[in-house]
Amino acid sequence: MAVSLRQLSFTELSRLIFKWQAPERASLLSFLVAMEIGLHWLWCAVVWWQRDSVGVFVNMPLLYMSWLVVSILGLFFLWLSRHFVTLKNDKERLDFWQIVLIVIYSTYIGIEILIIGHSSLVSGVSLVGGTMLGMMLVKRIYIWRAFLLQVLLIVIVNIVPYMGVDLPSLREIHLTNDPVFHTHSYQTYNEAVTIENAIAAAIFHTGTVPLNDGHELHRNSALFWRSTHMYLALPKAIFIIYIFRTLLLILDASKREILNYARQDELTGLDNRRHGLGQMQQTLMTLNDHQDYSVILFDLDWFKSINDNYGHEVGDKVLKEVANILAGAFTENQIISRYGGEEFLIVLPETGHYTAMTIAEQLRADIAKHAIYINPIHSFEATASFGLYTLTYSERLRIIDEYIKSMYQEQYQDDATRSGMKMYKQARETHSVMALYKALDEATQAQVGSDMCQRLISIADKALYKAKDRGRNQVVSANEMLVEGKIDAPNGYQR
Ligand code: GH3
Ligand code: MG
Ligand code: MG
Repeated sequence: MAVSLRQLSFTELSRLIFKWQAPERASLLSFLVAMEIGLHWLWCAVVWWQRDSVGVFVNMPLLYMSWLVVSILGLFFLWLSRHFVTLKNDKERLDFWQIVLIVIYSTYIGIEILIIGHSSLVSGVSLVGGTMLGMMLVKRIYIWRAFLLQVLLIVIVNIVPYMGVDLPSLREIHLTNDPVFHTHSYQTYNEAVTIENAIAAAIFHTGTVPLNDGHELHRNSALFWRSTHMYLALPKAIFIIYIFRTLLLILDASKREILNYARQDELTGLDNRRHGLGQMQQTLMTLNDHQDYSVILFDLDWFKSINDNYGHEVGDKVLKEVANILAGAFTENQIISRYGGEEFLIVLPETGHYTAMTIAEQLRADIAKHAIYINPIHSFEATASFGLYTLTYSERLRIIDEYIKSMYQEQYQDDATRSGMKMYKQARETHSVMALYKALDEATQAQVGSDMCQRLISIADKALYKAKDRGRNQVVSANEMLVEGKIDAPNGYQR
């Protein structure tokens, strides 16, 4: 599909570029070049139309020649923008035409800058903006080479006038009334500006140039050329930044989408296991002192029979509807994730055992009374079994304390260990988990966090299986089980 003006609106462009392949992006670049050349063509037309008043500042034969070249180039780039989309399955020809596009455009820009005035706004915008845009739309290695070539050209064009080489310039200074500038003088851009400044200085300081002639000429010529530079550079700059912004927004959107894919469970839209565990570890490590921390693990009952009796799709529907119940029941700082097939993990930071039990019980009741319709008339209810564990603050302090102690006991008593031990002892006196964490290096902090998460889930899991044993559709507290000695804590958790 070739590019059209209509597609350059922000939303259209974002949508299209996201889906576009190399030929379409090259086509867009070609179209943008054609538009840029179109502006240049219009400028030539206006100068020709106003030749009586501005012709005196312009080398008209050179203008006519450049107008002709610009007309041909404009048509060529328009044609190229259509041609690119026919090259979808022809990589070699696509590469070839990309090179043609870049070489011709770079040459055009080089010559335009040369005859309109190098070291100007237009050259800056073309060099930097054009390169940025090109990098986003066509093969980067070609653009990089073209950029280096342009840098080289700019250096050459700036140096050769000082070696006595006259470069062509559209800009002319043509004074007739003053003896100093009597003859037709043909100048490069920098020289023309220097002479104009000299005229201005003469007018304002010494008055040696007749005011009317000199002043008017300088004013009009400077105004005309400055307008020309702005006309050629600013729309291009604005447009390049507009496209650049569009592309960056597309990039942001695609980054968000990729992150979402990486974090989300596709079926339920909840956090996936990896992201849920990552969030859990983060909240556990940053939990304030004196806060309890609860974990609920639940598993749908007889889910295999639901799949067997009603089909896999109904099974999926149950998972989605349970996920909806969960999404509606919790706030943002509570972490809900799909931990496995029909198993869900809920993390409630800063939540004590009693509150967590109430929440779990409520959730169990909500799931059990929710009707799942297999058709408009028939429905059934699914149930779930819950295991809950609350890590109290004192337990958290004890675990981390033991963890660090065993860590230092395992190591040799070298200087580093001794200084770590000293920090740890100081931290211990504060009775603060935060202070103890801070006595650890970053890698060890992460290790402690990950170990703790696994242990909490493993205790909750034991309670969950007790709930299954006791007949399902109920909440079992691991804390109570531990006190009664009905389940064992994993290593290092004996009470
Ligand atoms: P229990 O009450 O002991 O948990 O029995 P159960 O049947 O729920 O337990 P089991 O672990 O034997 O079955 C889990 C089933 O969940 C098996 C698997 O096919 C199904 N399952 C896992 N993921 C999905 C899923 O994404 N969609 C569907 N429809 N089924 C799934
Ligand atoms: Mg199950
Ligand atoms: Mg299961």
